[in-house]
Amino acid sequence: MADYRHLAKLFAGRWIPGPKVEDGMRFANYLNGKGITTILNYLGEGFKETKDMDHTFEVYDEILKGLRNSINYQISIKPTQIGIPDYPELAASYYDKLVEEAGRYGIFVWVDMEESNTVDATIDLYLRKIDRPNTGLCIQSYLKRSFDDVKNLVEKGGRIRLVKGAYNEAESIAYKERSETTKNFSKIMDYLFEHENYFMVATHDLNLVNEAIEKNRKYNRNFHIAMLNGIRNKEVQRLGLHGARVALYVPFGEAWMSYAVRRLKETSNLRLVMRSLLQSQKI
Ligand SMILES: Cc1cc2nc3c(=O)[nH]c(=O)nc-3n(C[C@H](O)[C@H](O)[C@H](O)COP(=O)(O)OP(=O)(O)OC[C@H]3O[C@@H](n4cnc5c(N)ncnc54)[C@H](O)[C@@H]3O)c2cc1C
Repeated sequence: MADYRHLAKLFAGRWIPGPKVEDGMRFANYLNGKGITTILNYLGEGFKETKDMDHTFEVYDEILKGLRNSINYQISIKPTQIGIPDYPELAASYYDKLVEEAGRYGIFVWVDMEESNTVDATIDLYLRKIDRPNTGLCIQSYLKRSFDDVKNLVEKGGRIRLVKGAYNEAESIAYKERSETTKNFSKIMDYLFEHENYFMVATHDLNLVNEAIEKNRKYNRNFHIAMLNGIRNKEVQRLGLHGARVALYVPFGEAWMSYAVRRLKETSNLRLVMRSLLQSQKI
């Protein structure tokens, strides 16, 4: 599968509702009607031009105004969309404004985690508003540093969205065996159940999802199970109907190709891709 772009075109429609803000918001409303929290993400990353960062801010601003006072919506921002790592002051000013505005409207703001060379700058960005109850940070269990990062952040009052991690990182800093990443996910999840009230378990790994549900029988936490739109939507709906708090991460925007290619590269073999293509995820 040397060229993922042709396959990506086939798949993009099931992962991404469309290129426009209205597409994202329309789909978000649809999911909300089904009791699913929507995490809206405007696609784009690795920006070098400040005009792209300005545009990203304007799009999120439009979303926040559009979702004003709605419940069950969150947004998730990629730090390299708003100036990390080259323009940290610009990123800080955009982040601060978005968090303040979202706070006024009762909307939760997640900070996505990207490649490892941006982790420190991303944590610094998140720390700026860690005291705001409507903010949270994504942490990747494939990074060896993540357990310590989570401890530090939770001690400071932060909220965590736990994922396995989507980038190709060096063995010196990241677990390369899937089983090690999963083990670290469980370890961090244990810590979150013990020490946090609100957090997000973001995975399609049903063993981990079941583990979280089982753990919650003891801890009774206010946590969300979250998946990416289009992968296991029916499962998300089923979990919601059985009483779990569920969320779908819904990316939208013009930059759908690189997102679709990354999701395809994650699927470990063609069989999985084809099976996923054949199974409808419409809910
Ligand atoms: C809500 C949410 C937010 C995320 N935010 C970030 C972020 O900010 N930074 C970051 O690095 N990563 C993020 N990710 C991606 C994450 O890091 C993983 O790359 C992705 O979730 C796949 O890992 P997994 O936990 O589902 O486990 P895996 O072990 O990869 O997958 C478990 C099973 O899920 C199914 N599956 C997984 N992916 C696919 C797919 N593409 N197509 C079809 N089936 C699939 C397969 O059956 C697979 O066996 C996010 C994921 C979610 C759910």
